[in-house]
Parts: sequence; C-alpha cells; structure tokens
Amino acid sequence: MSIVVQKYGGTSVADATRIRQVAERVMRTRREGHDVVVVVSAMGHTTDELLALAKQISPNPERRELDMLLSAGERIAMALLSIAIRELGGDAISFTGSQSGIITNDRHIDARIIEVRPFRVQDELARGRVVVVAGYQGVSYRREVTTLGRGGSDTTAVAMAAALGAEWCEICSDVDGVYTADPRVVPDARRIGVLSYEETQELAESGAKVLNAQAVEFAKQSGIAIYARATGGPLPGADPSSDGTVVRRHAPRTPGSVVGVASERDVLVLQASADADRLLEILDMRSVAGKQLHVASYAGDGDQVTMIVSRENLHDEPRVRAELDRTFGGKAQLLDGLGAVSVVGAGINANYLTVRRGNGALREAGVAPQGLATSSFRTTWLIDRAKVDDAVRLLHEMFIARESPPVP
Ligand code: ADP
Ligand code: ASP
Ligand code: MG
Repeated sequence: MSIVVQKYGGTSVADATRIRQVAERVMRTRREGHDVVVVVSAMGHTTDELLALAKQISPNPERRELDMLLSAGERIAMALLSIAIRELGGDAISFTGSQSGIITNDRHIDARIIEVRPFRVQDELARGRVVVVAGYQGVSYRREVTTLGRGGSDTTAVAMAAALGAEWCEICSDVDGVYTADPRVVPDARRIGVLSYEETQELAESGAKVLNAQAVEFAKQSGIAIYARATGGPLPGADPSSDGTVVRRHAPRTPGSVVGVASERDVLVLQASADADRLLEILDMRSVAGKQLHVASYAGDGDQVTMIVSRENLHDEPRVRAELDRTFGGKAQLLDGLGAVSVVGAGINANYLTVRRGNGALREAGVAPQGLATSSFRTTWLIDRAKVDDAVRLLHEMFIARESPPVP
C-alpha cells in the first residue's frame, strides 16, 4: 500500500470537534487504501500560550527548558487525535518525535533534523495502524528533546514523508493552498495551482506562513511533492492543483514575473560597526539565527555589518541586547520598528525593473523604503512596520493583480 503523510496545523486541531473532524478525514484516507501517518501541531494557540507563560516567569528562559515546555503542546494533540481515531473504529497509535526517530542536532529551539529512523513507525504501519506523530520536535544525539523552530510541524511531516518513501505529503491548514499573498491581508489574492520548490522556499523564508521554509528545503532535497490543502476540503483527487497547491520539481513558471508577495513584521535589523568575526561568534554563542548577512569593509575603517534577525525564534532578546552592549558599546545595535516586504519570482532580478518599479510605487504611497536586498528569486524592502500590510496590498496590486487580471 502507498504511504501518505498528512499534517494538520494548530487551527485544524483547536478543539474536540475539530479533532474529531480530522480523525474522520484520516479515516477517509485510510478507506481509500493508503497507509497513513499523521503529523499534528499543538492545539490552537497552545505554543504561544506556553511561551507567554514562560516569559511571565523569566524574560530570558533557557532554551533547553523551553523545548521541554513547548514539545508538550504537540504531545497533547497527538494523544487526543489517536483517541479520536480509535473512537471512530480505527486503529491508531501516537508517538513523540523521539519515539518516531526524528534525530536532530543539539541546537535547542530551532534544531535541524539530521536523520529520521522511522522503525517504530514502519512497524506500526505494517500492523495496519494509523501512526500519529507529534510535530515540531525531535531528539538530539545527546538524547535531549529539541524543537524545530516555529511552524516546524511542516518540517516533521516532510522529513517523515521522505524517510518513509511516501507518495506525497499533505499539509492541511485553514487555507486551501499557497496564495499570491496572505489572503487575510489581500482579499483578492489568488490560489497558486503549482509552484516550484525554489519559489515556495523564498516565499516561506520571506514570511508566507502557510509552508515552513525548512520543510520545502527537505522536499526539494528528496523530491517529495507537497500538497498544501484545506483541512475542511476534499482529499486530493486526480488533479490536486485544482483545489490546492502542489509544490514540486519542474513547475511551470514565467521567468521574470512575480508569483507572490510575502511579508515579515517581526524582524530586527542588526547594524554594527564592529569586528564581523567577533560579532558572529557572539551570535552563534547565543544561537541567534540571522539572514541576509552583509559585511562591507571597503572604506578601510573596519567592518560594517547588517543582518536581519527574525524575532520568531529569539526568546532571550534582553540577554542578547545586553551582551551586544557589553561587548561593542553602542556600535552594534538591534533596530526595532521595521518590517520586511518581499516580492518573489524566478528571474525577477535579471534587470532592475522590479526594484525600480517597487521603489517608485512605495515612495509615491509615502512608504519610504529604509533598506533593500535582492536574490535571484526575491526583492525585499525594509519599511516602517506599521506600513507593512499597506505595502503588501500595493505591491500585490502592481505586480500581480494588474499584470495578470483574473480569468473571468
Ligand atoms: P497551520 O497552523 O495550519 O500550520 P499557519 O498559521 O502556520 O497554519 O499558516 C496558515 C496561515 O498562513 C493562513 O491562515 C494565512 O493567513 C497565512 N498565510 C500567509 N501567507 C500566505 C500565503 N501566501 N498563502 C496562504 N496563506 C498564507
Ligand atoms: N506548534 C508549533 C508552532 O506553533 C509548530 C507548528 O505549529 O508547526 O510554531
Ligand atoms: Mg504552520
């Protein structure tokens, strides 16, 4: 029998009724003749609530203890879903990340999966059981419980799908696929039927929460197709791109055109005039994950460093700020108040038309860009955080709605 991995996000398992609905969907998949592995996130806002609780006790909670705390969220959801499947007459068993053989490095809070040894999962599938796996967590070689960074259940699902040689990996959520922008921000955003791994990864890294960036990276490495779909919608039919999004190799693409707009509100900009190696060493010691690192020393007066730090997995910001102050005085600062808005598409930076048009439109709308960065798939503007949603709507209108009006 073919193996299917399905992942259900927090909203999809937010209460008992929804857990029962997920159990019914799992049973339908089973009746279609598949072996099913289900990966679950913590119920509703559990992860945020547990984090808030920890912050009430300490402004700088230890990363290891946070992992012990946060991994409990998914453990609750897995047990309840397994109970719900059994109540419907199915045979299910739940496993933590560790029991499922998810082995990670020993970096707490945003660990990376190094390998998956899914022996217990395979044994239970062979017994005809549905296996329910707690997402977002693993175990390090030192036998410490780790978590995979916010949104990490998607990564569990794809890594498990790759290790089991699954037919596909369904990521089921409150939205029926990947849209040209967050549909909560841009009401006329459109669902994208098929996307390449590269474009999806850039969208995810730029803040499109619907799929986790590391999950897409794993899918790309192993060639697993991701089906992003609505939990409330049908099971994938002959053409899963007709009512969801399929992320796969060789997706049709129009080089040079923007496929999506994404944004990230909770970013800090690290700006430093300091020895870059020393600065990066401190960031590594504190496990601060940055992106878009840029070091310039052309003028001969030392290193000028800039970097974007997502706040998402930074839970000891006061401690990091204090350490930067202690080491560099005022010469290394974490600037707050900015957000990042990105447009993504293969080949959009072959020339600078996208950059120039975006710059012009943002300025005209009174959103002065305070920074700009490009990759071959992406252009990112740093702007006032309060204006991020307006900028997303503006760029979506300019690069997507006007360029290719919807088919009537
Ligand atoms: P889950 O709990 O199921 O993992 P998430 O909250 O992580 O769900 O992701 C789903 C949310 O992502 C949607 O509710 C939507 O508001 C948001 N989102 C952001 N960008 C996009 C996009 N480009 N396409 C679809 N949804 C998006
Ligand atoms: N529960 C975790 C989070 O809220 C992981 C996930 O939902 O994928 O980030
Ligand atoms: Mg998610």
